[in-house]
Amino acid sequence: MSDAFPTRRARMEYVCMGCGHRFPVDRLIYTCPDCGGVMLLEDLDFDSMKEKGAAFWRSLFDSRRATRIRALRGVFRFYELMAPVLEEDDIVYLGEGDTPVIEAAQALQKKVGRRFAYKNDGQNPSASFKDRGMAGAYSYLKSLVRSHGWKEVLTICASTGDTSAAAAMYGAYVGEPIRTVVLLPHGKVTPAQLSQPLGSGAQVLEVPGVFDDCMKVVEYLADHYRVALLNSKNSWRVLGQESYAYETAQWYGWDLAGKAMFMPIGNAGNITSMISACLKMRRLGIIDEMPHIVGVQSEHADPVWRYYSQPAQDRRYEPVQVQPSVAQAAMIGNPVSFPRVKSLVERFEQAGGRFDVVQVTEQAIMDSMILANRHGHIACTQGGESFAGMLRAQESGILEKDEFCILDSTAHALKFAGFQNMYFEDSFPQAYGVHARAELVNKPRLLFTPEEREAMPAGEFTRAAAQAVAAAAGLEAKE
Ligand SMILES: *Cc1c(COP(=O)(O)O)cnc(C)c1O
Ligand SMILES: [Zn+2]
Repeated sequence: MSDAFPTRRARMEYVCMGCGHRFPVDRLIYTCPDCGGVMLLEDLDFDSMKEKGAAFWRSLFDSRRATRIRALRGVFRFYELMAPVLEEDDIVYLGEGDTPVIEAAQALQKKVGRRFAYKNDGQNPSASFKDRGMAGAYSYLKSLVRSHGWKEVLTICASTGDTSAAAAMYGAYVGEPIRTVVLLPHGKVTPAQLSQPLGSGAQVLEVPGVFDDCMKVVEYLADHYRVALLNSKNSWRVLGQESYAYETAQWYGWDLAGKAMFMPIGNAGNITSMISACLKMRRLGIIDEMPHIVGVQSEHADPVWRYYSQPAQDRRYEPVQVQPSVAQAAMIGNPVSFPRVKSLVERFEQAGGRFDVVQVTEQAIMDSMILANRHGHIACTQGGESFAGMLRAQESGILEKDEFCILDSTAHALKFAGFQNMYFEDSFPQAYGVHARAELVNKPRLLFTPEEREAMPAGEFTRAAAQAVAAAAGLEAKE
C-alpha cells in the first residue's frame, strides 16, 4: 500500500437535524439558517467507497498506522471517513489521537467481575479528547483561510475547561491570522484547565454562572459578529471526534461485537461522534456488528438520562438546572448536541445497535475514579463516571454477562487533581454530596517538622530520616 496523501475527494454538505435542509461547506455554519437546528456533515459520495470493499479500507487504515505523512498520523488516519475535502497542508497535527487502550489491571477486573479496558483520551496533547475535534475544526478553518484569503479570524468558544485548552493550543500553533478568545464560567474550571489557555496566550474571559450561560453568550456572538465558533455546534469538531470510535474498532481488529463502550455525556458531542462513526463503519461493512453504546450522566446534570429513562412512546426532552458535579467537564443542563443524538440513536438502533444511558451518583464517580487510579489507571473524574456507569449498568442488568467494556477516560487525571484532593481531605462542599471512604484515602505524612530537623546534631539527619521511613513503611533491617 502506498504511503501517500489520499486522492479521494468528495462532495460534502451540512445537513440540518431539524428540517433536513442542506447547505454547502464553503463557509462555517453552526445552526440551520431556516430552522435553527444543529447540523451534521455528510459526504454525498460516501457510498462510492463501497466499491473497493471493506477489506480494502481496513487494510488501508491499518497500513497507515506506520505512516510518515504527518497529516495522517493523527485523527486523519481515517481521512476518507471524515473530511475528504481537506488538502494535506490544511491539516494541523499536534500529536492528537492514537491514544492507548489499556486493559484494566487484573486485580481490578477481578474485583468488578468483568473484563474491561480504559481508552486513555487524556493522553492527547492538551490532555483531553477535545484535541480530536479541534484538529478537525482548525484544519477546516485553515482550508477556509486558504480559499477565502482571510486576513483575520477570531475564534471563540464557551468551555467547561477542556475545549478552551484545546482551542487555545491549536490556535497558538496555527497563529496568524487566527486569534483565540475563550469564555469560561468563573470558578467552574480547574486550576490546571485555566492555566492552559492562559499559557497558550489566548484571551481568557470569564462570566459568573455555569457553562450553559457561556454557551448562550457565544451563540449570540456567532449570530451577530464575525467569529468562528469552536464549540461542538461546529460540526467539524464532531467529525474529528469520530476518530475515537475508529481507533477503538481498529484496536480490536475491526470487531466491536459484544463490546460496550461507555462515555460521559456533557454537551453530547462526543457521544454524537461515537454513534455517527459506528454508522459509517457499518455502512461500509468495516464492522459487521454494532457495539453497545452506553452514555453516562451524573445525577447532578442528567437531561439525556431523563429523556431516555421515559417510555419510548412519550419521551419529552427538558433541560435541567445543573448542581455542582465532580464530573465538571460534563456539567451541562442543556446539551447542544441532544437533537443529533436523538436522530442518530434511531438510526443506530435500526442498524442493530444497542443504546443506553445510565445515571450515577457523585459519590460513585469519585469512588470509581480513585479505585481505577489505585490500579494503575489515569482516569479523570469523567473517566470515573464511565467506570461508575459500567457498575451501574451491571447492577441494573443492562449488560450481558460476557460483554467486554471499554471506558472512555476523556481527560487526564492531573487536570482534576483538586477533586482527588477534596476527597482525601474529606472536604467536599455539601452540594456535591461526596464523602471520603476511609480505605480509599491517601495523604502525605511529614516525618518530622523543620524545627525538629533544625534541632538535630549535624550529620544525624540522613540516619534519623531513614529510620523514620523504615518505621513508617515497616521495613526489615538486613541481617
Ligand atoms: C467535554 C468533556 C466531556 C463531555 O463531552 P461532550 O462531548 O460535551 O458530551 C467529558 N469529559 C471531558 C474531560 C470533557 O472535556
Ligand atoms: Zn433546519
